[in-house]
Amino acid sequence: MSIKFYNTLSRKLEIFKPIEKKTVKIYSCGPTVYNYAHIGNFRSYIFNDLLRRFLLYEGYKVIQVMNITDVDDKTITGANQQKIPLKEYTDQYTKAFFEDMETLGIEKVEYYPKATDHIDDMIELIRKLEKKGYIYVSEGSVYFKISEFKDYGKLSNIDPKGMKDGVRIDADEYTKDNAKDFVLWKKAKEGEPSWETEYGKGRPGWHIECSAMSFKFLGETFDIHTGGVDLVFPHHENEIAQSEAANEKPFVRYWIHCAHLIVDGEKMSKSKGNYYTLRDLVKKGYSPLAIRYLLLSTHYRKQVNFTSEGLQAAQSAVNRIQNFYINVKEQKTENIVDHKFNQVLKKHTTAFNTALEDDLNISEALGHFFELMTDANKFMTDKKLTESDKRSLLEAIISFNTILNILDTREQDKLPAHLQELIEKREKARKSKDYKLSDELRDRLKEENIILEDTTEGVKWKVLK
Ligand code: AMP
Ligand code: ZN
Repeated sequence: MSIKFYNTLSRKLEIFKPIEKKTVKIYSCGPTVYNYAHIGNFRSYIFNDLLRRFLLYEGYKVIQVMNITDVDDKTITGANQQKIPLKEYTDQYTKAFFEDMETLGIEKVEYYPKATDHIDDMIELIRKLEKKGYIYVSEGSVYFKISEFKDYGKLSNIDPKGMKDGVRIDADEYTKDNAKDFVLWKKAKEGEPSWETEYGKGRPGWHIECSAMSFKFLGETFDIHTGGVDLVFPHHENEIAQSEAANEKPFVRYWIHCAHLIVDGEKMSKSKGNYYTLRDLVKKGYSPLAIRYLLLSTHYRKQVNFTSEGLQAAQSAVNRIQNFYINVKEQKTENIVDHKFNQVLKKHTTAFNTALEDDLNISEALGHFFELMTDANKFMTDKKLTESDKRSLLEAIISFNTILNILDTREQDKLPAHLQELIEKREKARKSKDYKLSDELRDRLKEENIILEDTTEGVKWKVLK
């Protein structure tokens, strides 16, 4: 089966064919580093991670760029409030961003360019636009004239007819009703960082950075551009305008946008104050794996409703998968010939892949994983799993996990000596019927995430994350 993605530009599911046969080039809008990212932002980054991991799983090479916006209205205001240089201010949140990405098991992409390192590339793009007659200067700032670009509105489906020429907007974020000529280069203001350029002393508007940096790392036309749905207008509409006006060729083949994380029916956002950072949730005792699962497990074009019940359900799902993995690893196998496990495994693996190929339908793919678990458990209970079945099953779990990344696959056979000792002490206490000590030791192990199970074959243990 071929891979299909929903392309915001055509408003259709399309068969995915990258420009180069085996390499996919992706640009993903990244964070504005003016504060800690909230978990709504991470919904978007986990969607990027799913897309990336899935393409790698399908055998593609991926070259992905995620920009770091380290100069804009919000970063400048923050730095001024803290009375520190812009770079010092943004560095702390850039560092926090990468720490949080790692906590959530998000794979690093190839390039994380910072806007402030690419001012020259932005100026070069503005120069190109000037030569082609798309810009004008007003009160020292440079604007893109949207009436000159005939396709303006094709992504967000707005009709720019009737908009007055020369009506400008300086803000980076605005709504569709406010479509106006947008700013490429802002004239320097007192107390703001600025760069000396042929367009005067100033700083870039927000939209220009993504076009300039994507050309630099991916070329003038590339395969996929991602972001949250809030970026369709104006950010991505403006990216298309300035990129296609400058290069006179299509900018991006597939635009893929993820829906929001919402709280009580509203988008989670800093401005509404209804947000949690990853750190808030981890401090409250939620595991990063459960948070990852919650953000990952809903289809990317559906909103994720954030609730504590949802997080608990995510935790149970993660535990169930982890326990299943450990059980399979520890499973004693049988010497039988007549069995059908291979077929069952193939059926579920194919269904898992097919679901993801269908516009990254992760919830359906997970459903097939859970069905596989139920079926495999039955084979194990019926003592019908051979050594080769077990190997294939473990391979399938590990391979699913290259996409999900919710499993702790560290070697579980060896525990640190002090924990091994505790388990042995507890075994002794239990055998000599000292249940009080036995329970105390069980609780101490639990604090270390070691769960004991007394079976007919003796005590078994599992590591929970
Ligand atoms: P920002 O730092 O605000 O520029 O946003 C960074 C990324 O997070 C963008 O791709 C946004 O679309 C995305 N984003 C912001 N809020 C949410 C949310 N509540 N749910 C999903 N994605 C979001
Ligand atoms: Zn962008």
